[in-house]
Order: sequence, then structure tokens, then C-alpha cells
Amino acid sequence: MADHFAPGERIAVLLPLPLAGTYDYRVPDGMTAAAGDIVEAPLGSRVATGVVWGPGADSVAEMRIRDVIRVRDVPPLSGDLRRLVDWVARYTVHPPGAVLRMVLSVPEALDPEGHVTTLAPGEESTAIRLTPARRRVLAAVERLREPTARELAAEAGVGPSVIDGLVRAGALRTGRRPAPPPPTPAWCRPGPALSPDQSAAAELLRRAVGGGFTATVLDGVTGSGKTEVYFEGIAEALRQGRQVLVLLPEIALGAQWFQRFRERFGVAPSPWHSDLTRAQRRRVWRRVADGTVSVVVGARSALFLPFRALGLIIVDEEHDPSFKQEEGVVYNARDMAVVRARLAAVPVVLVSATPSLETMVNVRQGRYRCVRLPERYGGARLPAVTAVDLRADPPPRGSWLSPPLMEALTATLAGGTQALLFLNRRGYAPLTVCRACGHRLRCPNCTAWLVEHRAAVRLQCHHCGYHAPVPSHCPACNAADSLVACGPGVERIATEVRARFPEARLAVAASDTLTGPAAAAELVRRIEQRELDVIIGTQVLAKGYHFPLLTLVGVIDGDLGLSGGDLRASERTFQLLHQVAGRAGRAKGAGRVLVQTHMPEHPVMAAVTAADRDRFLEAEAASRQEAGMPPFGRLAALIVSCRDEGAADAAAAAFARTAPDDPRVRVLGPAPAPLALLRGRHRRRLLLIADRGADVSGAVRSWLTATPVAREVRIQVDIDPYSFL
Ligand code: ADP
Ligand code: ZN
Repeated sequence: MADHFAPGERIAVLLPLPLAGTYDYRVPDGMTAAAGDIVEAPLGSRVATGVVWGPGADSVAEMRIRDVIRVRDVPPLSGDLRRLVDWVARYTVHPPGAVLRMVLSVPEALDPEGHVTTLAPGEESTAIRLTPARRRVLAAVERLREPTARELAAEAGVGPSVIDGLVRAGALRTGRRPAPPPPTPAWCRPGPALSPDQSAAAELLRRAVGGGFTATVLDGVTGSGKTEVYFEGIAEALRQGRQVLVLLPEIALGAQWFQRFRERFGVAPSPWHSDLTRAQRRRVWRRVADGTVSVVVGARSALFLPFRALGLIIVDEEHDPSFKQEEGVVYNARDMAVVRARLAAVPVVLVSATPSLETMVNVRQGRYRCVRLPERYGGARLPAVTAVDLRADPPPRGSWLSPPLMEALTATLAGGTQALLFLNRRGYAPLTVCRACGHRLRCPNCTAWLVEHRAAVRLQCHHCGYHAPVPSHCPACNAADSLVACGPGVERIATEVRARFPEARLAVAASDTLTGPAAAAELVRRIEQRELDVIIGTQVLAKGYHFPLLTLVGVIDGDLGLSGGDLRASERTFQLLHQVAGRAGRAKGAGRVLVQTHMPEHPVMAAVTAADRDRFLEAEAASRQEAGMPPFGRLAALIVSCRDEGAADAAAAAFARTAPDDPRVRVLGPAPAPLALLRGRHRRRLLLIADRGADVSGAVRSWLTATPVAREVRIQVDIDPYSFL
């Protein structure tokens, strides 16, 4: 297929719009275009930016076809990225333009990178009154050649106002220069001496780089040095002059990861996540496209960056459910990372201490290779995990810490090490009930209880952002002072620990108390420097971190994730408990983990306490296989939603009538979704269950085409659903 287009030729341009396929345009006189070029083209009365996708068709009459306006001065999107857009669109059953919008997420980055303002000695430097601060600035500006204001202020040890004053007085003159490219990571620096297992794994990853597509699972116990090992793969890709993408869940909280990268390679990698400013996003996007940024570490959307010379993709904590994007284009970044690697013919490494069942089945069936790190680095031992049977050892009334956990906590604090109490629930209490009439406080927009946040002094809905003060009277029976908090969240555990151990220095770590990378980095620093004794946290602290002084992990409610009948409830609970347990005892001191549970005999608890992951996965795989559930069968969900309940029901019924007529496909539902009301919309679910070999995306696409629905009804397609809410 032709990739280069001469004047007069027709081209297909994909626009980053949710409703569009490609649009045809003509290349005007004096211009040429190539597939992947980013172009401006007229769309109605406005100018749209899109990407040349291939040759145009003859569907538009010659007199109606319009000319492309210009080709933007930015490197073209690579063929593998364009194929990824088409692939993701087809697989997820979303329009290609909606996927392209994730690629062209920073329109400003199409403009060439800006210049920075610099300072140089001015004319008037002798004629002004010289304070010591001013004198230091004038000396520094001679030393640093054309520094920026910030560099100059730092060198001279003055505030910005001193520099402004000197510019106004004419003693400094401003100029402009292009922003310097970021420093390249020093891949030639030697890494740490590796253990024999680590060396073997690192060697395998190094050999994979440059050798085309391979998928490798790096399966190592917590604390085995997986990060150090894949850093060797990164060093090899850099040596070959290629770019590296690292996907990390909750990247905004990855302070320790950044620090370790800096220690290994001398510079910071480029981050990509939603907490960046627009200017930062613009710079990273442009430099990824230009090829001057060599390592990007990001959340799932980094998958769609326009790498110029991608050489390696790493997915750390590959089992993490947050790789699934649930809004807009619904996709799993872990799975699509494997697709991108295949399309770009580069290796991908999936890293975890608790690989997902999907991934393990791919290993077993020979699609992925696997390297194992069976031991912790440096002689540290895996912690002993014990279940505390809450039926035999219940906490006293109004308390959440059982006697064995209290004892362990007392001993830990007496011994001067740290404890992490884990409860995957934000706020103070998950439910507020009226003692007089039994009324429960509910979100007006969602099928969800309101969660009390005592620190913020309010009730909150965790689904839609609704919040309200705690009422003084029950809204149902009007009884005064009758509302009581039921059950614990992390804030309530903190209150209890504070009451029992008034001397202990403690912090609560949840997504609403760690409001960004800076707050997370500060908490990590306080833990590392022993400024804290007890940390009470949700899953934001469960994974990845390495805190040498942490010797006790207490799981407040080990059963929390097991209710609800979610397909992956057991697998996820196992992963989460195993990961959080893995925070304990990572240095010399032995670690201990106590898991409070009402069902110590449950297979998940048995697997966590015996640390027998493989047997657990075997049993889990057997039961999924028997039920024809993923990864042995395929699922797709349709969520039909509307503000009007009747319209939602009517649309759901229409889908039931047009369900695919194929013996390899079954449809369940429609049924009200567990979150039957979300942000004011009524939701109905249909679940499609198919054989592993069935073309689920194709079936869903035909199903959508065959089912007209009212305009106000929204249909969300979720291929391989993770959330069953
Ligand atoms: P994992 O990611 O497998 O949980 P990490 O990569 O976080 O393990 O390693 C645990 C700790 O051991 C880290 O502090 C890391 O720097 C250290 N470590 C691992 N391997 C080595 C090594 N070969 N030399 C020195 N330190 C190491
Ligand atoms: Zn709500």
C-alpha cells in the first residue's frame, strides 16, 4: 500500500473525534504527505488536526473533496503506533478516532518546543547601588554562561525579586535560547553486583532487547530485586539507542521508584501521569516524538505516546487492576502493552510477585516465557504470615484490633521498628445508620452508602463526589443525635491506635490523604527516616515500596475483598494480601504478618498464610476452567445507562432481543448493575460469555449495529471486564 502521496492524490485522514472513521482529503499543489504525518484539514467551518492514515477512497465526489491545509512540523506517527490505534479500536469496539485522541492528547506539543529566557550582564552594571546580594548575582552571571533566572537565583542564593530588580535597573539583560534537551541516562554506569539468580534473569532480558517481539514474565517474590533486574534490560535498550516505556500503577506515588532510577542511571526518567502540568505534558510528548527522551515511566495512558524508536516495554505489577481503564475507551493497558510490543517488534516484560491468572496461563501454554527469582535479595526472609481467627480472638467491643494483633503491635513499638496496619477502606466509617429507625445514609445519585470522613468533617460518596455535612437529626425519623458510624475505615483505626498508643507517631495513607506525588514522597521520606512508628494505609501503600524498618504488617479485615461474587475476588484478595504482607521484613529483621479473618479456612487465607501461591492458582484456574470463565472463556459487558429509568430498561430489553445468535456465545441479563444508579444514571448490564476462540469484539460490533437505541441512552462496551459493578 502506498505510503507517500503526491499533489492531487487523495488521502484518508483520521481525526481524533469519537464519531469519525477516516475522512478523505486531497494533497494540494506544492505539498507531499506520507502516512503518519500530522496534518491540518478543514472540517466544516473549522480546522481539525488529524493523521494521514493511508490512501483515500473515491467515495467523495471530485468537486466536493477539500485540500489538506498543511503538514505539521513534527515527526510522523510510526506505523506501529498507527496499527496499535486500529488494533485497540477494533478490539475494544470503540471508534479509532477516540483511540487516536489518546495519542494526540497534547495539541500544543505539535508546536516546536519553546525557548527559555536567559540572563546576561547588562550595560548598567557599574552605575547601580550594589548590595551584597546583587554583587553575588553579578558575579554568578559571569560564571554561568546565560543562565535562566532560576539557575541564577540558585547559584547566587537570592530570591527572584533581586534578579527582577537588576533586570529593571539594566544591570542584567534578557535573551532567549532553545530549551536544552534532557540529559541521557548513564546506561554505561555499572549496576549493583547481582546474585546468581538475578544475573541469569538480567542476562535473559538483555538478550531479548533488540531481538524482536518476546513476552517475558519476571516472576519474583517480594523483595527479590525485580526492579534491579529489569534496570539491566533498560540499560541494554539505552545502549542500543532505543527508548523504553515503563508502566507502573499509581505512578504519582512512585517516589521510591524514581529515586532508585536516579541512583542507577544518574538522571530522572520522564514521568507521564495525570498530575503533570500541561507544560510538562507538552514537553514530554514532544521529546518522546523527537526521540530526545529515552525513558518514560507512566500510568496506562503512556502506552499511547508517540515513541520514535521504542526498544523495550516493562509492565511493573502487571497483575494490578488499575491497568484497566474504565472510562472513555475501556482498555487494559497491560494487555495492550503486549499488543504494542508485538506490533513494534520489541520485547515486553511483565513483572510481578503475584502474576495474574491470565499471565500464568499464557506462560503455561508457551505464549510467554518466565524467569523466576525465588528468593529475597540479601538473605532477607519472607515474613511469617499467621491468620488471626476473629471468632476465637475477637477484638473488645468498639475496637478493631484483636488481642494477638495488639500484642504484636505493642512488641513492635517496644522494639523500635515500624508497623503497617492495612485496611482497604478510606474514611472513618463506611456506613452511617440511625439507631432509632435503622435508616442508612445513602448517596442521592448512586446506589452507594455515604462514607463518613471525620478529618474532612463530612459524608462522601466514593463514586460521584457528592458530599454533605453529617446531619444532626436522622433524615428519615428526625430523631436527634441518633446517627452512628458502622464499621471501620482507616481514620477509625487511627483513632483507636492513637487512644491505645498515645506515644506512637502515626500517619494515615490513603488516596485522599496522599493528594499527589509530593505528599507521597514526603510520607515515604518520613517512613524511611523513622519519623513514624505506625502507618495505617489502604492499597496505596500495599505494593512496590521497600521500607527496611517495617517488621509488622497487620491486616485489619482480610475478608473484605471476598464478598460480592466478582469473578476475580479471590485472585485479587490473594494478590493484595500477599503484596501487603510482602512489605514486612525486607531487611535484616524478620517480618511478621497477622491477617484478621472470620474464615481462616478459606482457600485464599490458606494460600496467604502458607504462601503457597502456585497451589492457589492451580485451584483457581481449575474452577475458572470448569465454569468457562476467563482466561478459559471470554467475557464482554454492555452497560446501558440513562437518566430516565424507563428508557434504560427499554434499551436493555432491545439488546436482549437482538442478542447474537451463535452457539458459542451466551448472553446473561439484562439485570440492574450492582451500582444500579451511578451519578444519576440508571444502569443495566448484559454480559456476553463466549468460548475462548470466539470473536467477541466482532460479535459485539454486530450486536451494536443491529440495535438502535434512543439518543439519550449511553452504551458502554467493556471487552474483558474487570469491574462487575
Ligand atoms: P522487588 O521489586 O522484587 O520487590 P526490589 O527490586 O525492590 O525487589 O529489591 C529489594 C531491595 O533490595 C531494594 O532495596 C534493592 O535496592 C535491593 N537489592 C536488590 N537486588 C540488589 C543487588 N543485587 N544489590 C544491591 N541491592 C539490591
Ligand atoms: Zn454518589
